[in-house]
Amino acid sequence: MSETVLVIPRCNACGEALFPARYRCPRPRCGAADWTSEPAAGGAVEETTVVRHRVGAQGAGDVYLSSVRTQAGPVVIARSDTALREGERVALTIDEAMRVWARAR
Ligand SMILES: [Zn+2]
Repeated sequence: MSETVLVIPRCNACGEALFPARYRCPRPRCGAADWTSEPAAGGAVEETTVVRHRVGAQGAGDVYLSSVRTQAGPVVIARSDTALREGERVALTIDEAMRVWARAR
């Protein structure tokens, strides 16, 4: 599955960055619909959790989830193949299914 660098939209009117994208800026007294896309290739892990699959459930293996503070500002929820540590610097990508992936770097 192909992956690309995660892109975070930033409002051209007030500078707010957010993910996922919305049509209009949610910030009070802004509401602009004018965005610049900013690559967010990396970030720092804030919290982690693991979703353990039950025996017999579809799909094998545990799913590691982390909240990652991107360099652009917003926190994104990312999957990873291995457990990550809080505070760890990670690279961020997004796949064709719009899932965000974090990898230690
Ligand atoms: Zn705005």
